[in-house]
Amino acid sequence: MKYFFETYGCQMNKAESSSVEQILIERGWNSVENPEDANLVIINTCSVRATAETRIHGRLGWYSALKKSQVKQNKNPITVVVMGCMAQRLLESLKKQFPVVDYVVGNFQKPFFTEIFEAVENGRKVNQLDETPVYSFASTSYEQGSFSAFVPIMHGCNNFCTYCIVPYVRGREISRSPKDILSEIDQLSAHGVKEISLLGQNVNSFCWNETKSISETASEISAKSCDDKIILFPQLMKMIAEHLKKTNSPIKWVRFMSSHPKDLSDELIKVISEEEVLCKHIHLPVQHGSSNILQRMNRRYTREKYLDLVKKIKKQIPEVSLTTDILIGFPGETEDEFEETVSLMKEINYLAAYMYYYNPREGTPACSYENQIPMEDKKRRLAKIIDIQQEITKTEMKKQLGKTVKVLVENVSRDDESEMLGRTSRDERVVFKADKSLIGSFVEVKIESLNGNTFKGCLI
Ligand code: SF4
Repeated sequence: MKYFFETYGCQMNKAESSSVEQILIERGWNSVENPEDANLVIINTCSVRATAETRIHGRLGWYSALKKSQVKQNKNPITVVVMGCMAQRLLESLKKQFPVVDYVVGNFQKPFFTEIFEAVENGRKVNQLDETPVYSFASTSYEQGSFSAFVPIMHGCNNFCTYCIVPYVRGREISRSPKDILSEIDQLSAHGVKEISLLGQNVNSFCWNETKSISETASEISAKSCDDKIILFPQLMKMIAEHLKKTNSPIKWVRFMSSHPKDLSDELIKVISEEEVLCKHIHLPVQHGSSNILQRMNRRYTREKYLDLVKKIKKQIPEVSLTTDILIGFPGETEDEFEETVSLMKEINYLAAYMYYYNPREGTPACSYENQIPMEDKKRRLAKIIDIQQEITKTEMKKQLGKTVKVLVENVSRDDESEMLGRTSRDERVVFKADKSLIGSFVEVKIESLNGNTFKGCLI
């Protein structure tokens, strides 16, 4: 039996696709490069932007034509499964819109994959998937042979930023048990993994409560005094760091994403500064530089609070690299408010930023806000901040020239086969002359020059 996987969207989707692939591999299935050769196609979808969904509509049209031609030629037609956030958002209506789809597996229906695979293997059909509103963490998302791995630790979001569809399709926050997390980390260590990334839609609001009163959020609990039964993100990070030391694990770098500024506590900053295994890179999405817009986005912090937080981080972790997400062109954004974002970027000097303009997302409050910004203004503002960030990135990266840094070798460089591409703990890209055999190892590289957003260095 052969399968073909298409994954769109975030790292969580990549991790979830890998975990579903593991079920197929364990059942003896093989992956194929070409969907025409598959018995089963799984499309893991994203709903964050309308453009992502439009792309998936296009793919479903293509699969529909493929299936028709297979039927015409009396071949066994492919089984098409759609999973992920678009599946969750549209559920059975997706099947009505696209009859090519055999199964729609929402974010809370993953336990049904085994049933579906069994049915495809036996040429049967599963009738109706139950809607069980339970999210289950896969035991592992490890891809055979990789030295970097994702470890989902929480799922969902309670924040309801007014522009974002995620809380509607991923549901409320659920944290994974620390015991399960450590057990997955042990499996990854046994595979020789070198770097892990802890994942969650709102990773630093991780909150494991033995007493299972999951209605309390991390910030509500941290406001009280914690007892032993409650484990928040900083304690989990410390627990992981100690566990890796105690077990003499090959995992030497731990990253996390995506964090919310309101949940980035003093204790977390302290743990990152103290534990060597925790990478000195924090992705801290600010979204906007104006307190008025932040309030209308329901981000739950002000410009001033965010700036204070960054000051604290930089003071306690001087080598830290900060990256962010910026959303401009939110409904009602004035030129002055936009300029507040520009000034905030210049004040913080992010190493990198993911910048995008606001696109109304059906089903979210901001979609119906008045004073939507004309597209030409959104494009102009976006182009301006991209130019500014490019300059900031260049200046920030130049500060590293001449330093010797630890690099995890990832791949052969695309431009020159005699060069390897690697990444630093601060999440900077470095190319340097080296042999392929170093892929997956840590090496020391002296940074010599800057080419675009990539360092050139020499292996020590
Ligand atoms: S924190 Fe806001 S932007 Fe992030 S997933 Fe939750 S609602 Fe969306």
